[in-house]
Amino acid sequence: MFNQIAVIGAGTMGNGIAHVFAQFGFRVNLVDRDPAQLEKAIATITRNLERQVGKGLLTEQDSEQALQRIQSVQNLKEGIQAADLIIEAATENTELKLSIFKELDQLAPGDAILASNTSSISITKIASATQRPEKVIGMHFMNPVPVMKLVEIINGYSTEQQVTEKIVELSRLLNKIPSVVNDYPGFIANRILMPMINEAIYSLYEGVAGVEEIDTIMKLGMAHPMGPLQLADFIGLDTCHSILKVLHEGLGNPKYAPCPLLTNMVTARKFGVKSGEGFYLYTKGSKDLVVHPRFSQ
Ligand code: NAD
Repeated sequence: MFNQIAVIGAGTMGNGIAHVFAQFGFRVNLVDRDPAQLEKAIATITRNLERQVGKGLLTEQDSEQALQRIQSVQNLKEGIQAADLIIEAATENTELKLSIFKELDQLAPGDAILASNTSSISITKIASATQRPEKVIGMHFMNPVPVMKLVEIINGYSTEQQVTEKIVELSRLLNKIPSVVNDYPGFIANRILMPMINEAIYSLYEGVAGVEEIDTIMKLGMAHPMGPLQLADFIGLDTCHSILKVLHEGLGNPKYAPCPLLTNMVTARKFGVKSGEGFYLYTKGSKDLVVHPRFSQ
């Protein structure tokens, strides 16, 4: 079906996407302009594969073979020139994605499918940067990719039905469950999730309750596996902020405007797990969930 996959961006999502494709037998080029990110991604994939071996989900040999299927590549052209499916998982920024897709369109084989893992940016807009809008689609994996079953598949305005069918079939081959939706801001997952996260941040900002209380109530009261503030840290506060801006601008409703506390935290580069600080404090090697001293009463 697909012989060579390329994943653009080796951050939180890119490493997970590369991991899953390699685990299910696909050759993957993992492309990032930042060599430190590539190095970190390979270390994360290695650790996560080992964890799967430890849980009896993979054999030692499966894990080694999966790792061998992944090549880290810094040069975009080199990474994509033989790919028949390219999945972009770079930073959630519209201008950046438009420029990446323009380049992908010029450098990738003419019949390659170009997918984006964007959480919220219009697939139709991303497709407009290319000469092949019918071959552009949203393939939105959930975090952590090796664990989460859902793939939200987003049809852009011009996406060909055949392309959607191929991506649906591929998602099943990766042992995921696909759900196909239309291209409106935030699609379904984030249109519903982000207002909840934003409301949790507003509740903290307005002093209705503390971090621990908000997360405990939503975890135990709604049977969510993680409270919304912990989830926001996990997703990345910068990513949450970008998605809320897309919802706000795209749907034109003030209810989606990011909470000023979130904006402040992102401006101060407190991005959650990936930067070590958010609503909680993350110390390397420690699994304890510690509320950031700033928010502990
Ligand atoms: P991240 O910040 O962890 O990683 C982004 C990576 O993109 C970085 O390694 C960066 O070096 C790389 N990058 C930036 N510009 C590049 C370029 N021109 N060429 C190659 N690499 C480039 O971000 P993330 O959380 O992995 O998010 C990636 C995408 O996935 C975003 O569109 C985001 O909305 C989406 N997404 C994120 C989550 C989540 O929980 N974090 C969940 C679903 C979807």
